[in-house]
Amino acid sequence: MTSSDPLPIRRLTESLINKIAAGEVRLLPRFQLWHSTCPEIIHRPASALKELLENCLDAGATSIRVTVKEGGLKLLQIQDNGCGIRKADLPILAERFTTSKISTFSDLTKIATYGFRGEALASMSHVAHLSVVTKTKSETCAWKAHYLDGVLVEGKPGQTVDPKPCAGNDGTTIIIEDLFYNTPTRLAALKSTSDEYARILDVMTKYAIHNPKVAFVCKKVGSNTPDLSTPPNADKPQAIRMLYGNAISKDLLHASFGAKKVQEAEGVEDVEMADAEDTNRPESWSAEARFTNPNYQSKKMVFLLFINHRLVESPRMKRALENVYSGILPKGASPFVYLSLQIDPRDVDVNVHPTKKEVHFLNEESITDQITSRLQRALAAQSQSRVFEYQT
Ligand code: ADP
Ligand code: MG
Repeated sequence: MTSSDPLPIRRLTESLINKIAAGEVRLLPRFQLWHSTCPEIIHRPASALKELLENCLDAGATSIRVTVKEGGLKLLQIQDNGCGIRKADLPILAERFTTSKISTFSDLTKIATYGFRGEALASMSHVAHLSVVTKTKSETCAWKAHYLDGVLVEGKPGQTVDPKPCAGNDGTTIIIEDLFYNTPTRLAALKSTSDEYARILDVMTKYAIHNPKVAFVCKKVGSNTPDLSTPPNADKPQAIRMLYGNAISKDLLHASFGAKKVQEAEGVEDVEMADAEDTNRPESWSAEARFTNPNYQSKKMVFLLFINHRLVESPRMKRALENVYSGILPKGASPFVYLSLQIDPRDVDVNVHPTKKEVHFLNEESITDQITSRLQRALAAQSQSRVFEYQT
């Protein structure tokens, strides 16, 4: 997507809503794993942020700035320079099942965005005070609107419910205030604002690594120095160095595998073809890995897993990688691994419970095996050359 004018937001038809709910959505290049099918899904500030970041990326943003107060519970503000939202669409923006990303069932087969169900903003408007300031390129000023429980509401007593004109740059700012103000048990379940802030930084760090062309900034309200800041147009090794430090980046290895076809589509360079015995359908998956060599040893494993561009968790994959390293690193030492998997969407289990960010896919065991044995080989080659170096 480019940051040209946005597509109109429409309400999905009942039949489409039912088809999505029934799991008939089987051809999604960026399938939904951790999406808000109900307000329950926004279970902490970082999960709201993840949805909002994905909306910015869907809008073609090249700059995303996040401002946080009290771990995101008092304020979570995300400003992007993406395509903006049309003024005419603001009245239905926070209704359930309103989206600009698909309008027909056949659109589902070629969807290239994170979102498509039109539920995230709706969910947030039920558990927080939601405000939006947005400007498209063709608009002469920005428009501001406030939402509660899915509908456009007055900003202040006495004001009309129409969006208000205001100054603003091209793009969108989403403001989430007083998250969980109406669900005290949820609020009480959260640990501390500093813990929530750490989770926000963690989600941002990971998306910033996966999207190194986009500039990310995250800071606390009132602070002049950002806690996270990346420049635009970086590459992955640069982003890893900036966010995880030189200790990791200087000991980083790289492997890419899978079919050329898929990789080229993603613009990934230095492609290696899958071994003939690797898979029966070599075009059905590909992967890119950045992982530390045996020189790097950390107390806790850092594992970033993206499947079809979505940040997910796979305890099985994590365990398998830990096993690879347990034979190489001293006891108690752990690696850094970034893994981006592209799987044929038809092979991804979309029937995962929406509250789970855990993912399952077809041939999971075989794909996991192939990835781990490849990393094992690369690491073994490294250790051997190290031994060799020491000997000479
Ligand atoms: P979905 O992403 O599934 O469409 P959301 O509730 O996340 O649903 O967003 C609803 C709609 O609001 C999107 O389809 C998009 O048109 C618009 N939108 C949300 N965030 C942004 C943004 N940052 N920039 C431009 N448009 C946005
Ligand atoms: Mg969305």
